[in-house]
Amino acid sequence: MSDSDELKVLNPATEEVVATVPAASEQDVAAAVVRAVRAQTRWAALAPADRARLLRRFADVVDAHLEELAQLEVREAGHTVGNARWEAGNARDLLLYAAGGAERLLGKQIPVPGGWNVTFQEPLGVVGVIAPWNFPMPIAAWGSFPALAAGNAVVLKPAETTPLTALRLAGLALEAGLPEHVLQVLPGHGHTAGRALVDHPDVAKIVFTGSTRTGREVMERCARLVKPVTLELGGKSPNVVFADADLEAALNPFSFLDNSGQDCCARTRILVQESVYDEAREFLADALAVVVVGDPADEKTQMGPLISRQQLDRVRSYVPEGAPALRGSAPDGPGFWFPPTVLTGERPDGEAAREEIFGPVAVLLPFADEADAIRLANDTPYGLSGSLWTRDLGRALRVSQSVRAGNLSVNSHSSVRYWTPFGGYKQSGLGRELGPDALTAFTETKNVFISTEGPAQ
Ligand code: NAD
Repeated sequence: MSDSDELKVLNPATEEVVATVPAASEQDVAAAVVRAVRAQTRWAALAPADRARLLRRFADVVDAHLEELAQLEVREAGHTVGNARWEAGNARDLLLYAAGGAERLLGKQIPVPGGWNVTFQEPLGVVGVIAPWNFPMPIAAWGSFPALAAGNAVVLKPAETTPLTALRLAGLALEAGLPEHVLQVLPGHGHTAGRALVDHPDVAKIVFTGSTRTGREVMERCARLVKPVTLELGGKSPNVVFADADLEAALNPFSFLDNSGQDCCARTRILVQESVYDEAREFLADALAVVVVGDPADEKTQMGPLISRQQLDRVRSYVPEGAPALRGSAPDGPGFWFPPTVLTGERPDGEAAREEIFGPVAVLLPFADEADAIRLANDTPYGLSGSLWTRDLGRALRVSQSVRAGNLSVNSHSSVRYWTPFGGYKQSGLGRELGPDALTAFTETKNVFISTEGPAQ
């Protein structure tokens, strides 16, 4: 087997090889799609209650393996063990939530003259899910589980660097009794396995999560086949802090340091009202100094490494030596470490302020008033997430209506809940995942008219 036929999974905290996994070729993808097409017909024919029961059983099996899944995520992605446990729990909870949806995939009865009219939500067929490396397990789950509940088969391609939790989830699905080939995981390269999935005529929809650059290509290729696509792409989210806010809560550095900043919802543009700018700066300097960066398997660790050397180089390129900044510390030696950093000398229209860095780096920018805050908050090509901090309810409502982003939090830094829709405005994406309508995104609406006219006399 040559190098390009296999994926080496590195522990980003040590650079040691954790596993070597075969990389799927175009032919492997084609064969998986054939198997998926067959499996889907039988899966969709199951009574919804039986599909739901199998998915609940899958959730139970995931629950019994939470710690194993979490430890795998620590090793392959460098996530802190606390985060990794939350992620495995999120996969389990979404299975339970989606399972309920299988039994409530309701159509409509629409009043029309001359007969009855009903709509049906029918599964699409085979869904291709392409996941990134930053949250390998939750993102694999968000794309796959509602699709399965709606009666589709899924072929999932995880990121090159992080295939292990997705592979394990597929194994657990079989253990739980899901039929073979209903959920297949094919690790592989984006330009071979990923593209083959996108281009395959029997893949009815693509759910892509990753960079805006790749998402654009995926959308172009889907357009050739008029294939529906959900895109969850990049972000550069604002944290808008008004002078009357609870500064300590608003400036919690984990709003951008969680997962070492490799979070599409990271609040990496800290916009602070001028009158409290100095106070904010001092607070952040103190907060960064005490962040515990190190071995992600250690329960006390608050921030782990970046995913890869390539990502480390990318992050470094935004923080030139001597750039005015507040800095925490990070370990030396093996592993892909970068210290918590807040850049303080950036222009609002500079690269660091507008581009997604995807590391533990934020910019601190002052604003004058509400109008200025809204203008700055909207001044990027992205629109995924954001936080607004103020005790003035009217202002909170006005600003949340004016910021063009899919997921906003007022006086909170939360972003993703499986109960609520998630997705981006502008170049952050297309379509929504999660929430009460998650299954509908994996269905076609069929309209059937039934005449009630009697036979002609
Ligand atoms: P990426 O675009 O490089 O890769 C994502 C996935 O696409 C990988 O599985 C990769 O193998 C595959 N891929 C690459 N080229 C492809 C091609 N030509 N055709 C088909 N598939 C291809 O992104 P990444 O670096 O793995 O992930 C980081 C990015 O993901 C960031 O920009 C981040 O903001 C974004 N992200 C978005 C969300 C969201 O929900 N909006 C969530 C997490 C991450």
